[in-house]
Amino acid sequence: MAVRLTIIGAGPGGYVAAIRAAQLGARVTLIEEAEVGGVCLNWGCIPTKTLVYSAELFNRVRHADEFGIDISGAASYNLSAIRGRKEKVVSTQVKGIRSLLKRWGVDLILGRGSILSSDVVRAVQKDGTTQDIKSDCIIIATGSRPATPSIFTFDHERVMTSDDAVRFDDVPKSLLIVGAGVIGCEFAFIYRSFGTDVTVVEMLPRALSTEDEEISEIVEREMKKARIKLITNAAVKSAEVGPDGSMHTTLASGQEINTEKILVSIGRSMNTEGIGLEAVGIETGKRGEIIVNDRMETNLPGIYAIGDVTGKMMLAHVASHQGIIAAENAMGGDWAMDYSTVPSAIFTMPEVGSVGLREYQAREKGIAVKTGRFQFRGLGKAHAMGEIVGMAKVVSDADTDRVLGVHICGPHATDIIHEAALAMRLGAKTSDISEMVHAHPTLSEALMEAALDVSGISIHTPKQQK
Ligand code: FAD
Repeated sequence: MAVRLTIIGAGPGGYVAAIRAAQLGARVTLIEEAEVGGVCLNWGCIPTKTLVYSAELFNRVRHADEFGIDISGAASYNLSAIRGRKEKVVSTQVKGIRSLLKRWGVDLILGRGSILSSDVVRAVQKDGTTQDIKSDCIIIATGSRPATPSIFTFDHERVMTSDDAVRFDDVPKSLLIVGAGVIGCEFAFIYRSFGTDVTVVEMLPRALSTEDEEISEIVEREMKKARIKLITNAAVKSAEVGPDGSMHTTLASGQEINTEKILVSIGRSMNTEGIGLEAVGIETGKRGEIIVNDRMETNLPGIYAIGDVTGKMMLAHVASHQGIIAAENAMGGDWAMDYSTVPSAIFTMPEVGSVGLREYQAREKGIAVKTGRFQFRGLGKAHAMGEIVGMAKVVSDADTDRVLGVHICGPHATDIIHEAALAMRLGAKTSDISEMVHAHPTLSEALMEAALDVSGISIHTPKQQK
């Protein structure tokens, strides 16, 4: 008899796990209380990137004359058309996923799922219909939601989470973004491109604090050039509605900031409430995350957890890969998750792509490192595109020449990074990258030149004066 697998949550973790398990012959039930695709497709990766591309195009069109293109009159944007395009992109993808699930014979139930016992999951549909599903294996993929600290009163208009900001109902005159992490920085560039006066406050000393320090520096410099105000080492003390209806924010330093709206993006809370974890005794950690091993197993046999709810790297592609691992293992495989070569992609302007150890992390581990850098302005392709800001940086093991990490801030960094991720996955040396012939003219040449620079022999870098 086929293995009966029930999955709670159809985000990029859950729906991918469902398809892989079906490919392996399982009878799969997938329960989703909102919409397939989860946060990634409906409120996260895809809608924000659709907005990023509208914003980038708007920026480019305003500089079209630099490329010899005449556009008569000033460029302007149409908010409802931008929103409409975003919604169309999302709905096309939603339909695509629903159709894939159908083709693979996955039984999709639109409702709320919870674990009743180690082999029964209850699904309650919106109309109250209840189904108890007998399951040989269960995968929890319930994801996360924006953290909403009590210092802010979220009315979802003036004080917003990322779920509100992505609706893109309007372009406020001024916006305070609390948190200069990935989501905060991406929104800062989006709103600024459409003319909002953006201020970002960050508790830590730098924006994108988990990235390599030199990458943060470039992004901070670009924020400054775009006239996004960044205040670091700053905590919000209070945020209240002022007499004129605008938001009045006071920082711990006493500095006061008045803005039309506030977007709070200071992290995510895991969706672990009311899904029956206590009923069966599934272990959770300090942040509320479900504890799993590298095989994505919880402390209970046959019950797996994947994606944001595990509190590991909160990225869509991580959720999906964890989903594949859980599905394979549920079907008798022996797969383990390796986080060491997972690339990350940040859609600031310019983009950031990174993989492996940051220089500071390698040094903290006591590894002797050599580094190489290459500025995009040294590339013909970057000049042809009119996108010369940024650099590629290679962090290499000084003893073995192995690539420890690669960090790129610049045009198409989120695509270029995959060459580095593959190199690292194959245990490549820095010389494997530098000696590989890279096509010309391409942006990937930056990675080759940065690898050459580790040995001080980058061709297109001026000789250093001794
Ligand atoms: P989710 O996507 O959160 O999906 C969980 C699903 O479970 C949801 O659909 C929810 O409705 C459902 N659910 C929850 N509880 C129940 C229940 N009891 N019963 C039934 N269904 C339930 N990541 C990237 O890699 N790249 C990006 O560019 C990127 N951009 C982002 C931008 C924003 C603004 C945000 C907020 C996130 C972004 N992320 C990005 C992160 C990415 O969206 C998440 O890491 C990813 O969605 C996690 O996938 P998941 O399957 O674990 O959970």
